[in-house]
Amino acid sequence: MRVIWFRHDLRLADNPALRACCGHPGSDNEPVTALFIISPTQWRQHKMAAIRQRFILAQVDELGRSLAALGIPLKLLRLETFAEVPAALATLSEQLGITHLYANQAIELDEQRRDHAVHASLRDLGVSCHWLNGCCVLPPGRVLTGSGEMFKVFTPFSRAWLKALDEDGFVIHRAPAPRAEPLSWQPLADRGWGDDALGELSADPRWPVGEATAQQRLDDFLAQAVLDYGEARDFPAQAGTSILSPYLAAGIISPRQCVAALQQRLGYRPQAKAQPGFVWLNELIWREFYRHLLVLVPTLSMNRPFKPETAALPWSWDPDAFAAWCAGRTGYPIVDAAMRCLNATGWMHNRLRMIVASFLTKDLHIHWRLGEDYFMSQLIDGDLAANNGGWQWAAGTGADAAPYFRVFNPTTQGQRFDPEGEFIRTWVTELADTPTAYLHQPHDWLRLKGRHDYPAPMVDHAVARVAAIEMFRALEKSH
Ligand code: FAD
Repeated sequence: MRVIWFRHDLRLADNPALRACCGHPGSDNEPVTALFIISPTQWRQHKMAAIRQRFILAQVDELGRSLAALGIPLKLLRLETFAEVPAALATLSEQLGITHLYANQAIELDEQRRDHAVHASLRDLGVSCHWLNGCCVLPPGRVLTGSGEMFKVFTPFSRAWLKALDEDGFVIHRAPAPRAEPLSWQPLADRGWGDDALGELSADPRWPVGEATAQQRLDDFLAQAVLDYGEARDFPAQAGTSILSPYLAAGIISPRQCVAALQQRLGYRPQAKAQPGFVWLNELIWREFYRHLLVLVPTLSMNRPFKPETAALPWSWDPDAFAAWCAGRTGYPIVDAAMRCLNATGWMHNRLRMIVASFLTKDLHIHWRLGEDYFMSQLIDGDLAANNGGWQWAAGTGADAAPYFRVFNPTTQGQRFDPEGEFIRTWVTELADTPTAYLHQPHDWLRLKGRHDYPAPMVDHAVARVAAIEMFRALEKSH
């Protein structure tokens, strides 16, 4: 018996582990079983958002149905923590007579430790484990400096990545052919899986699951929006980005499928920066950068800053200020609109993620780890590599060439990227009738109108900015 263990790769198409499992040479008649492990306690410890858990489980349902149609049963195990996994898989191996286990490599440290423990325990039973690269276009470790180290900043990584892609190329694996008569599939909700820990197992109509849905999103985006992406991607009121992040994070679509579709649609050669679509490809390379970094710098999975000296920064942990930021009650309209959007939908536009992260760390001087955890607890696309990378980039502690004195001005960011206030009015309804001229600094106008329903600014940005820069400067002097 061969087993394919699905994790953050909940798809049939372009799934290297599934492909290897089903195409194992000389054993076409050997039965294949699929496996997914639900770990509610571990997920909670990792701050996984409830909306993301439901999204993943809805996709597991979809995957189970698709596998059943191919004659491959999907077995579900509920193990509260990763620590229980090695023993449970050893037992399962003995029960089912497993000879081979296939999975796509995990990149997070806890997951890697779990996989090492599984490997060791199954090896003792004579089961061979195969770990493949399914989460990145190029496997972590492939793109290194001349001296064999991970790049510390993005731009040279991006150049080396494009060169490596050109040298290596890649193939897209098709979904496997049917292996046996179709099986029946009992939906998760009917099995009594929905409970206090997992929440109600209903699909969220705002976030439909399925590989076809993700592929359609990609096709729609590539039909036109990708050509305007360079200009439109910074404006949260416009549909200028792909909104594929939840699908990429859960592995419903692969990054290779995205790159291949981009190449196919635009006849695109990755090296040519002037080509339409390069800006979007560059974002996919950011994704790769943070994933490679997470594997090659394991301390990132341990709450440590990428720049070790910044661990000494005297960040604030002020619970009231943090709560106001979380609730979208800072008195800065673009920050508040962004946070309320996140709280209501589980998703936030990239420009806004940068603005609110800069505000928390550089205006409120609150530790980036609090922001990172809060994002994780709310985001449908919560992904340790991208989230940690984004937060450390904003906080000035991460893999970034820009100096620490990059501090976003939340008022001018709002004026630039939401000039008519369309996004702000949608989410900060108290400001819906504020004239555009006052919208980004509404307090004088609100006072004139005798209105008290929107909070005063928590901090004076100009003062807070100087204090943030001073905090870093003092650290620099002490080294
Ligand atoms: P598009 O603009 O269409 O880009 C395509 C894909 O490229 C995205 O789906 C994503 O997978 C990847 N991508 C784009 N920008 C980045 C980036 N800066 N870093 C890494 N990958 C990128 N992204 C997550 O997927 N999960 C997170 O938890 C996450 N947390 C973030 C936290 C902060 C503080 C910041 C600044 C950024 C974070 N990002 C995160 C990156 C980025 O904001 C989202 O990937 C993007 O907004 C998703 O929208 P989209 O799918 O429309 O992206």
